[in-house]
Amino acid sequence: MPNMDLAPLFVLVIVALVFVAEHLFTRKAPKQHYIVFIGAPGAGKGTQATRLSKVLGIPHLSTGNLLRQIVKTGTPLAVTIRSYIEKGQLIPDEMLNTMLAEELQGLEYVNGVILDGSPRTLEQAEFIESFLDGQGKEITAVINLEVNEDLLLERITGRRNCSNGNCGAGYHTKYMPSKKEGICDLCGSTLAQRVDDSESVLEERIERHNQRTQPLLAFYDERSVLYNINGNGNIEGIFDDILDALRIET
Ligand SMILES: [Zn+2]
Repeated sequence: MPNMDLAPLFVLVIVALVFVAEHLFTRKAPKQHYIVFIGAPGAGKGTQATRLSKVLGIPHLSTGNLLRQIVKTGTPLAVTIRSYIEKGQLIPDEMLNTMLAEELQGLEYVNGVILDGSPRTLEQAEFIESFLDGQGKEITAVINLEVNEDLLLERITGRRNCSNGNCGAGYHTKYMPSKKEGICDLCGSTLAQRVDDSESVLEERIERHNQRTQPLLAFYDERSVLYNINGNGNIEGIFDDILDALRIET
């Protein structure tokens, strides 16, 4: 009965073929990353998100930058947004959601995005979830950068920017001081602090962030995509921790 002896071999060949086919298939589809950064003002979201964007080759979408771009257009929407910003008020969820959805329809986001600055509220998180769901996608990871309040205050209250609008160079009184105190190295104009960055305003911003973020963190924890990262160390070390958490090899 030679046919009987071949049966186990036959099964083995089938298993091997399935394995190879599956391997080829998964290699073809690039891994998609829909990543959200959460962190208080000064937590280093922008810095880390920019780095991660380069490593993964997917765009970094900062809500702050998006708003600034829209404001420059001079459209009726731009005028409305500018008035919110000038009054120091937050852009309403619904308005922000519409802008995000419009932006995320761009082809550059087809393999993923790193969101920085949104979602900021539970309502926004729910909106983004249902928006991505409509495209058969989902948030794959949420990086929560945890930084001590003292360090946040030090990082932000030390920020200075060149008051010359054509220069705008950024400095930090402790981490990146100008050669001459209060004077821009590049153009010699005076350096100024953003009103938002003064200590009293900042404490309020951090408090507001903490309150809003709690339900957001719970929302993502429930979906098992939340990674809490200690953001008190140096930029390199924090970035390595993020890569480890996301199991990304460089
Ligand atoms: Zn300057």
